[in-house]
Amino acid sequence: MTRIVYVNGDYVPEDQAKVSVFDRGFLFADGVYEVTSVLEGKLLDFAGHARRLERSLSELDMAAPVTMDELLEIHRELVVRNDLQEGMIYLQVTRGADADRDFAFPDPDKVPSSLVLFTQAKSIADSPAAKTGLKVISIEDQRWARRDIKTVQLLYPSMGKMMAKAAGCDDAWMIEDGHVTEGTSNNAYIVKDGKIITRHLSNDILHGITRAAVLRFAKEAQMVVEERAFTIDEAKDADEAFITSASTFVMPVVEIDGAPLGDGTPGRVAARLREIYLDESRKTAV
Ligand code: PMP
Repeated sequence: MTRIVYVNGDYVPEDQAKVSVFDRGFLFADGVYEVTSVLEGKLLDFAGHARRLERSLSELDMAAPVTMDELLEIHRELVVRNDLQEGMIYLQVTRGADADRDFAFPDPDKVPSSLVLFTQAKSIADSPAAKTGLKVISIEDQRWARRDIKTVQLLYPSMGKMMAKAAGCDDAWMIEDGHVTEGTSNNAYIVKDGKIITRHLSNDILHGITRAAVLRFAKEAQMVVEERAFTIDEAKDADEAFITSASTFVMPVVEIDGAPLGDGTPGRVAARLREIYLDESRKTAV
């Protein structure tokens, strides 16, 4: 079955989905994105992703190409047209294609922003990695200072992933001033003496939609949550660790820089939070 992709108002087979070489996403990474998970043909936390998209757009003075209601309809239409049961929907908005390459933003009345969405079929609920856990390395955080905006400039996170792969690991946690900011494409957590510790929200990290949901569920389950920066040394000495993101939900981390955490197997807190997250988000999926 050929994948059907949405490009600026049209649903087309993927080999016909095209954007201009003058698109500012291509030339300047002048664009933002969202990834929304799909389970049993339904979208998880669409409202949260739509809200964050609006914020990313507004922080960059970029016009929303469609209303958030229309965006929901496009997501639903793609799920139906691609018969997507489980996986993700990737969405990207760029500042459109100007007549030439120019650092200055074009007039939004003359150059409309561009909107592309496509589906990615993938088994995410029954991920084998959730049973074995991830191995991470630590690397310096060399990204720009507005990590709260979900831009498509993902070169450093891609390099981090490659550094992890080269070390025989799954991902990299990024470090600034001795403290963990986040994973290359996820938020980072440690558990010590029953307390869940994760970095507080600021411009230093992406405000994960899964993070917000997981912390809400943890508090509802009477777990203790501390939102503060933690050092990499604290992480290596933790009882357990995990990450969250829309495409991995809650995923245990069992090793940091070659040092196993606890007994080197996925921790109980991570397993419980994964279960709660899956149960609760299924209930509110649309
Ligand atoms: N931090 C970074 C740097 C990310 O790229 C992502 C996922 N895109 C996250 C955190 C997790 O965000 P979410 O839970 O909204 O997927």
